[in-house]
Amino acid sequence: MPEAQIIDGKKVAEQLRQELAEEVAALMKQGITPGLATVLVGEDPASQVYVRMKEKACAKVGLMSRGVRPPVDVPQEELIARIEELNRDPAIHGILVQLPLPKHLDTPEVLQHVSPDKDVDGFHPVNLGKLLSAKYWDELPTFIPCTPAGAIKLIDSTGTQIEGKRAVVVGRSLIVGKPVAMLLLARQATVTICHSRTRDLGAVTREADILVAAVGVPRLIEAEMVKPGAVVIDVGVNRLEEGLVGDVDFDQVIQVAGHVTPVPGGVGPMTITMLLANTVRSAKAQAS
Ligand code: NDP
Repeated sequence: MPEAQIIDGKKVAEQLRQELAEEVAALMKQGITPGLATVLVGEDPASQVYVRMKEKACAKVGLMSRGVRPPVDVPQEELIARIEELNRDPAIHGILVQLPLPKHLDTPEVLQHVSPDKDVDGFHPVNLGKLLSAKYWDELPTFIPCTPAGAIKLIDSTGTQIEGKRAVVVGRSLIVGKPVAMLLLARQATVTICHSRTRDLGAVTREADILVAAVGVPRLIEAEMVKPGAVVIDVGVNRLEEGLVGDVDFDQVIQVAGHVTPVPGGVGPMTITMLLANTVRSAKAQAS
């Protein structure tokens, strides 16, 4: 079997960003500059890096970003008040609350105060509920979580038809696993979700025409767990001494799969791109 084709997330993301830049230019002609508020509580170095990457990406496509930086010990009511101010601000079309929040804050409670109309991360219960309710793709909410949306775009970039396929998602988090499974279901795949209590994981994953790994365990998915020719999307980001590695044993799996994403350079660039896309969509919705 020939080696799998590598799905180039950077390239797919770059194409989408060019399209977004054109949409932003058109909006600006109408006097609308899409604006994203980036709320970062405290000074966690990893979160600072992520937020900086998001702000840089905004600038590249012409979006306005506004940093909101409450101190690490901000009381919950004060943080919620800042978010509600952003909800009312017409220059802000999207609100991103960088996670994880410090331990004294109740994350679901804070996220509930982001207006569902500016919820560009797609984590508000209203948007998650709409995602769960959607039977078909065109019934999805305006905002779907960015990493799962990016994963679907990468599958589409391979030309694979999702409808009718067997899809297996390893991981059931609210941020990645569950929403990606709901999106695959809305695209008419037959979906199985696996987790830490799944017995004989390999027997399940070997059934998958489309396999999405969102686990956080380095190289969990080995070649013998993959169906020959499958599309394999590796969401995992694991920092080891040797560098970043995914949840898929890339060097092995590339011998078996039909298409596989690398780490880095696969899903990662898509996540930020989908955040930009959601902000532009929000600006358009508010303009009309
Ligand atoms: P969580 O820790 O919230 O969820 C991990 C899931 O994997 C859980 O459902 C857990 O099961 C399951 N799991 C753990 N161990 C095993 C195992 N041995 N076999 C099968 N299932 C297992 O992680 P996230 O969903 O937030 O993130 C997953 C990965 O994706 C991480 O590496 C993270 O860094 C990465 N990520 C990457 C993003 C990107 O932009 N590229 C964005 C977001 C995340 P259980 O529920 O039973 O505990």
